Amino acid sequence: MANFSPSFLDEVLTRTDIIAIIAPHVELKKSGSNLMGLCPFHHEKSPSFSVSADKQLYYCFGCGVGGGAFQFLMEHDGYAFPEAVEYLAEKAGMEIPQDTERNPAAEALQKGAYDVLTRASAAMNRALHGEAGRKARDYLQQRGLPADIIRDYALGYTPAGYGFMQQVFGKETRSNEALESVGLLFKGDHGYGDRFRDRLMFSIRDRRGRIVGFGGRVLDDGQPKYLNSAETDYFHKSDLLYGFSEHRDHIRKSKQLVVVEGYMDVLALAAHDLKIGLAPLGTAIGERQIREILRLCDSPVFCFDGDRAGRQAAWRALERMMPLLKAELTPRFLYLPDGEDPDSMLKSEGRDAFQQRLDNDSKQVLETWLMGLKLLAGSGADGRARMAKKADTMLESMNDRYLRQAWKQEVEQATGISLKYIQRQKQANPDSREQPQTSTPLPELTDRQERFMAGLMQQPERFRQLPELATCFFIDNDSMKSLYSRAFSIQTDAEDNNTDIARQLAQEFPDCQTLISRWVNQAAVLQVEFKSLSLDMEFNGIRWRMKNGLNLHETIQAKQRLNAIQQQQRTLSEQLMAERSDLEEQLQSEQSGDTGA
Ligand SMILES: [Zn+2]
Repeated sequence: MANFSPSFLDEVLTRTDIIAIIAPHVELKKSGSNLMGLCPFHHEKSPSFSVSADKQLYYCFGCGVGGGAFQFLMEHDGYAFPEAVEYLAEKAGMEIPQDTERNPAAEALQKGAYDVLTRASAAMNRALHGEAGRKARDYLQQRGLPADIIRDYALGYTPAGYGFMQQVFGKETRSNEALESVGLLFKGDHGYGDRFRDRLMFSIRDRRGRIVGFGGRVLDDGQPKYLNSAETDYFHKSDLLYGFSEHRDHIRKSKQLVVVEGYMDVLALAAHDLKIGLAPLGTAIGERQIREILRLCDSPVFCFDGDRAGRQAAWRALERMMPLLKAELTPRFLYLPDGEDPDSMLKSEGRDAFQQRLDNDSKQVLETWLMGLKLLAGSGADGRARMAKKADTMLESMNDRYLRQAWKQEVEQATGISLKYIQRQKQANPDSREQPQTSTPLPELTDRQERFMAGLMQQPERFRQLPELATCFFIDNDSMKSLYSRAFSIQTDAEDNNTDIARQLAQEFPDCQTLISRWVNQAAVLQVEFKSLSLDMEFNGIRWRMKNGLNLHETIQAKQRLNAIQQQQRTLSEQLMAERSDLEEQLQSEQSGDTGA
């Protein structure tokens, strides 16, 4: 794991504008001192995603995600932390420091690996267009894939026989080893040999759009029909989806996503201007992939063949999907006619008919589930019993308890068997999965305390307005104490008011990054409100002191101060009310001015 110095990270963030990172994905509009847009992490109709250009932090009031530029790249684009740092440093024209904690050899190897894969992909593409590639070209033409698809999706061909990769990269041990490490060569008894021979090649990209591996399809009746790169450090089949980096933005914009079974299906859709297809890499779709799909689109259509194998695959996908389902998500299942796949359907029916199938013929996940249960259980009274039993086990995996309740009722209706008894037995062990687990406890704050912190983060110069007692605020809140006292010392040590305190804190307390982002992005804390909040904090601080032992004289002073604070609070709340009614009057006169004419 890379270890960057705080000053380096700070420099990277100073030279980065978070708006430039987020703007390509979210349409941002000015709103107060921040920018607002539709959240790219959850689906919504009115904007609750806020970015503070000033503090360089984002926060979504709908789903609670938040952080800085690194966080956005990690959450949104799937970068690992060091990748996010390197990406932004590179963008800012900075040199990446090579400290001892890092392993330069491993990194060079990794960097080299991406180069090797890219060069290999280019060579395969050249081979496709060369003499040897005729058969593959004919195949693509017959499948109706145009030149721009072949180019954009980096299709290629590996000639028959051994030696193609060595022709491209040379025969030195070093290149052999590099090619072996990325899964393009294997070492046999007679030296190195090509893994892919006489195959049509699909380049597979990671979320950053880097080529990380390949899928190869035979052009005759050879076996296996599809062959993938071996698993390497950068090629994890169960983590990747074919088409993800190519289609991510399209899917977000069109709010349409189709999960298909193979590479050719993804490409056939793209060739029909449906750049919304994703496919697992030749294996059954797994939970991580489904999670990614549901994050990208709330109503994806999972497309399967109508035959027995297709139905089994659909059932497996559904089982893996159940823990992830929520009432807001509406995934659907589409079974194609027996013997057809999206590619063949598009060819025979055309784009519009296929789109209609997606819209009209696809079934809701609940319907698919009930149908599957019925098929599994069979008919008759014992069939209904089996169905109830199976349903009950599956319902247990669901985390959304409202949805679980609704589905339970559906099964009861379908079987005439009440699941209550079974449910009651299971309640003996309370469902702990409903709450997402956080690794470290986050500070718990009251609404007023939260507004107080927001007021400070939004205008750090307010630290200087605080009473002497302020160093003890939050003293009885273990999880908040260190964050607050650090904030206090950053601000008092700073020579001017320009310290970007929120950003510095977010960096020093990564666990609290979301919280800090929420503070800076919430509605501006105006001066009168802040005054009242800090009096509140002081009031509680004095009370805490009194509880923890003061002498008689101090106690009298403390009580006087408490009285004075209450007096001041009353004045402030009158002031606040007056300001509010002024505002309302102003609004009303503006409105009557509009309609008065
Ligand atoms: Zn959100």
